[in-house]
Amino acid sequence: MAETSTRNLPLGFIAEQKIRIQTELNAYVNREKISEAIKGSDEETGLESEYLDYVAQKQKKMVPKLEKALELIKKGEYGICQKCRGNIEMQRLIIIPSATECCNCIKSLK
Ligand SMILES: [Zn+2]
Repeated sequence: MAETSTRNLPLGFIAEQKIRIQTELNAYVNREKISEAIKGSDEETGLESEYLDYVAQKQKKMVPKLEKALELIKKGEYGICQKCRGNIEMQRLIIIPSATECCNCIKSLK
């Protein structure tokens, strides 16, 4: 398989998705800084720190996904399913800009 698979997405669409992914990533990174600052200043916040743990866990899951999506944009592989090398549905990318698998592959995982 020597052929390099490139997805025929409009360049404008990819540029928009890149901005969306970067914005989301920045939001997570900023929230992480905020939660660290709160945690550092007050360890006994009960419910609040539970919520912050939840946010931190979500960040741990989301940040690598967003970084991966940005990497794929750089490589020109954005929109290509990392499992079957098929095209990820554009509708799916609009809903989840950081999607790296197509609908069929996600379904078969469940
Ligand atoms: Zn797939």
